[in-house]
Amino acid sequence: MSQLKFLLEESRMPKDWYNIIPDLPFSLPPVIHPATLQPVNPGDLAPIFPMELIKQEVSQERYIEIPPEVRNIYKLWRPTPLYRAVNLEKYLDTPAHIYYKYEGVSPPGSHKPNTAVAQAFYNKLEGVKRLTTETGAGQWGSALSMACNFFKLECKVYMVKVSYYQKPYRRSLMEVWGAKVVPSPSPDTEAGRKILEQDPESPGSLGIAISEAVEDALKREDTKYSLGSVLNHVLLHQTIIGEEAILQMEMAGEFPDVVIGCVGGGSNFAGISFPFVREKFKGKKIRIVAVEPESCPSLTKGVYTYDFGDVAKMTPLLKMYTLGHNFIPPSIHAGGLRYHGMAPLVSALYNHGYIEAVAYPQTKVFEAGVIFARTEGIVPAPESSHAIRAVIDEALDAKEKGERRVILFNLSGHGFFDLSAYDQYLSGKLEDYFYPKDKVEEALKDLPKV
Ligand SMILES: *Cc1c(COP(=O)(O)O)cnc(C)c1O
Repeated sequence: MSQLKFLLEESRMPKDWYNIIPDLPFSLPPVIHPATLQPVNPGDLAPIFPMELIKQEVSQERYIEIPPEVRNIYKLWRPTPLYRAVNLEKYLDTPAHIYYKYEGVSPPGSHKPNTAVAQAFYNKLEGVKRLTTETGAGQWGSALSMACNFFKLECKVYMVKVSYYQKPYRRSLMEVWGAKVVPSPSPDTEAGRKILEQDPESPGSLGIAISEAVEDALKREDTKYSLGSVLNHVLLHQTIIGEEAILQMEMAGEFPDVVIGCVGGGSNFAGISFPFVREKFKGKKIRIVAVEPESCPSLTKGVYTYDFGDVAKMTPLLKMYTLGHNFIPPSIHAGGLRYHGMAPLVSALYNHGYIEAVAYPQTKVFEAGVIFARTEGIVPAPESSHAIRAVIDEALDAKEKGERRVILFNLSGHGFFDLSAYDQYLSGKLEDYFYPKDKVEEALKDLPKV
């Protein structure tokens, strides 16, 4: 009988996050100030982020200690389990061994509190009273709401309008943890009002919601802004996933040949994969695959260049794979994957050939999610189902070639708040939105000239 679960004792929970920056075999392009076109100074970011997070953003330390206050909250759900997906393997009749790290056991149901708790902690430490943020599908907003609640900070969430109405229970969850939630674009900010004037029916986008949350933070002395993905410090906080997974794969007596994660802004993918990229830098043979939606394909169809992180051009310029900051992705159900850009660290690794990327349309993704639910029991988030789609295709490829491939993926969250999307899939009403070539070409015309 195969062992299904590999559980780490709390005492073995990693004490450090892994910072990949000093190990990169190339130099990371700097973050650029949009006005001066010079690299930003740490001080430029001080109005929106606490100093400790700014330091982490550019740190050259390979390991950064997780503060005991953060570890204490992590312990509510960490270490998360590593499972071997034996039933899925049987269903696929594959010689591959499939393992998954399950981040859906956190209270809000995804990997996002790994960084939310850390960010709330550092803000509290520096005397901040209130945090603003954006949220797509609501996972980030709920993670930050919970974290703010633990550290007694106020929290205001600008929620992408299409998700606000598609996922009403996510809003309820944020409100249970004490946050204030508004649909974005909202009349509460200049950025929101401007979009509403142009298009009162705007479904919103992460880029718009970021503009609103940043503007709000800039306007108030007691307030800072918090971002749930993309930036180096966010990816750093997520590496506890991969560090735990390395220990758990040791317990299983295997090492992955392939590591797979879905990518929106890149944080859960970085979380599971960067500790394995470190092993790859040291010479281990391992493939690392990022999976994105065909309707928002920043890595597979985007351009590697400097772009804004938001529509209102309030953020610094980041060198990343981008579809253009004005690109508003179709309203797919994997709301967490609707971002025009990709984390600079993930982008650079892709550009230098250390990781691969694939894209799938949403019906193929939901098909994979349902197969997973019917074999492994867990109903996956639509975002995570992108990874599952790629895992199934890897396992079938291994079967065709007769290889005993070891596959590890990050099951970044559960899908209990996405059941209306599953409803649509099961009743045959889910549409595919293929690559919106014209809209992307249009948006790419507005790239900043650097
Ligand atoms: C937010 C989210 C994602 C996408 O964001 P990343 O920063 O790319 O990880 C993926 N899965 C789940 C469950 C999410 O909540």
